[in-house]
Amino acid sequence: MDFQNTPEQEAFRQELRGWLAANLPRELCVDDPTDERVAPDRPTFEKRVAWQRVMCKAGWVGMSWPREYGGRGATLMEQLIYDEECFRARAPVLPGYSGIGMIGPTLIEVGTPAQKARFVPRILTAEDIWCQGFSEPGAGSDLAGLQTRAVDKGDHFLVNGQKVWTSGAQFAAWIYLLVRTDPAAPKHKGISYLLVDMKTPGITVRPLVLMNGHRHFNEVFFVDVAVPKANLVGAVNQGWGVAMTTLMYERKAGGGRGHDEQIRRLGALARELSVDGAPAWGSPLVRQRWAQLAIEAAAFKYTRYRNITRQLRGEPPGPEGSILKLFGSELGVRIADFAGELLGPRVLVNQPTAEVPDAPRWYNRVVSARQYTIAGGTSEIQRNIIGERVLGLPKD
Ligand SMILES: Cc1cc2nc3c(=O)[nH]c(=O)nc-3n(C[C@H](O)[C@H](O)[C@H](O)COP(=O)(O)OP(=O)(O)OC[C@H]3O[C@@H](n4cnc5c(N)ncnc54)[C@H](O)[C@@H]3O)c2cc1C
Repeated sequence: MDFQNTPEQEAFRQELRGWLAANLPRELCVDDPTDERVAPDRPTFEKRVAWQRVMCKAGWVGMSWPREYGGRGATLMEQLIYDEECFRARAPVLPGYSGIGMIGPTLIEVGTPAQKARFVPRILTAEDIWCQGFSEPGAGSDLAGLQTRAVDKGDHFLVNGQKVWTSGAQFAAWIYLLVRTDPAAPKHKGISYLLVDMKTPGITVRPLVLMNGHRHFNEVFFVDVAVPKANLVGAVNQGWGVAMTTLMYERKAGGGRGHDEQIRRLGALARELSVDGAPAWGSPLVRQRWAQLAIEAAAFKYTRYRNITRQLRGEPPGPEGSILKLFGSELGVRIADFAGELLGPRVLVNQPTAEVPDAPRWYNRVVSARQYTIAGGTSEIQRNIIGERVLGLPKD
């Protein structure tokens, strides 16, 4: 792969970098955009919505979307540069990320003309914020085991059941929801995909508070919730295929970011931090651990580039794609573990102090890193996929 940007790509990077420097309000910048993907409170959420609108007006939202839907039709390299620059500027994750990254592209691909006309234009402009209602208390890795029922009532479905881990449901106007419409059919074949207005009577959102106090996700309860038939995506009982389309976009949107920056900061921390009266960096053990992380981050980055090169050449995804999620998220945990060991009990300091001036950065890392090994398919599930589908190993 060619590691140099073309002059056009470099111009694109500089244009975005300059625009962000001139327009991104400092108060919205986040220490580490991989944390706090959901706004911590409503005032911050509203500010981020306003920010998405500013970005949208300037043509910086929906990079991968086709131009006819208000997107930028950006190349893969431009999307990569976009991600890097937004991260570099510490721009918050946009509140509309679930709509922009998942339900929008799904509707563009499989929605009816009426659904496209009604829902798609309101996504980039942050008029509608969406959340994903897939997981349930008994259905995560085994998503097809979901039990939320939707009963056909003529012109509408009546939905009863519960979703869990629903990121951002406390702010969302709409939820894209998987429901069981045929309990007698084999489990993948009795599922339908609905678009549900969160203001519909019968919906209750209950926040799940993380141990660092963040309110990222929720339980969502449905009691006799009426959903118009017009909001069915794809055919009745064919929702599994639509869900796979959404999950394909989710995986595309995912991928580890920020490892290099976190490792750089850890190196700086080790130079500052005093252990037994001497800088931690003086210990060969600390330097070795740090170097190992730096090596792994480099391996991850180049594997990611190799994967992108394949896509740019129009080749089918290779094994790299399958290992990126696993390796990237687990490397994030190893980085957080090292931060924890380096700081010892000081990692728990959640406000800046003389000893830990950048608190609560590392505290948040330690608490948050593991979520990426679960969300979007756990590490064990990734290993199963790599073993069975990539390496062709026998199932038993
Ligand atoms: C930060 C975060 C945000 C999320 N946001 C959303 C959201 O917005 N909407 C949504 O619908 N969901 C969301 N999820 C849920 C996520 O998709 C599930 O947590 C995930 O799919 C795992 O399901 P589970 O939690 O039910 O765990 P389970 O599936 O119950 O797994 C429990 C353990 O068993 C292991 N295991 C399960 N099956 C196998 C197997 N076959 N082989 C080996 N090991 C196995 C798992 O790896 C795991 O360690 C989110 C999760 C997180 C962490």
